Amino acid sequence: MNRKVTLVFPRELVGEPITYRLIKNYDLVVNILKAKIIPYKEGKLDIEISGEKDNLNRGINYLTGLGVKVKPLAQQIKWDKDKCVHCTACVALCPVGAFEVDRKERTVSFNEEKCIICGICALSCPYKAIEILF
Ligand code: SF4
Ligand code: SF4
Repeated sequence: MNRKVTLVFPRELVGEPITYRLIKNYDLVVNILKAKIIPYKEGKLDIEISGEKDNLNRGINYLTGLGVKVKPLAQQIKWDKDKCVHCTACVALCPVGAFEVDRKERTVSFNEEKCIICGICALSCPYKAIEILF
């Protein structure tokens, strides 16, 4: 089983080796997709965790028991080519270059492989051509 989640850590847990414990104590594979720490405030971590269903549930219970908020992360970004007018607004905003411009053709394309599903583009597309699927 595999789940993509956002972990929100309260200030007192920011320095704790939580991902290490998920791996060691619950036999889970943890892939960090994105991390943001605000010193002395909170930490946010987008991760993909995989492992046996029971281990996964136990690992999530361990996190929530510690006081970490666990929220589901969007699973997929859907780009609707027909709605897209190739304005390039998403290209400038995407942190990983998943939307690209072909300058010669003046067209935008989406590379799903690069996407980390942060959702920024979907919130800013003026033509609602990008949707976040949960
Ligand atoms: S912001 Fe929307 S309309 Fe503009 S290029 Fe991106 S997907 Fe297309
Ligand atoms: S969801 Fe984030 S990473 Fe994916 S294409 Fe949009 S801006 Fe880029």
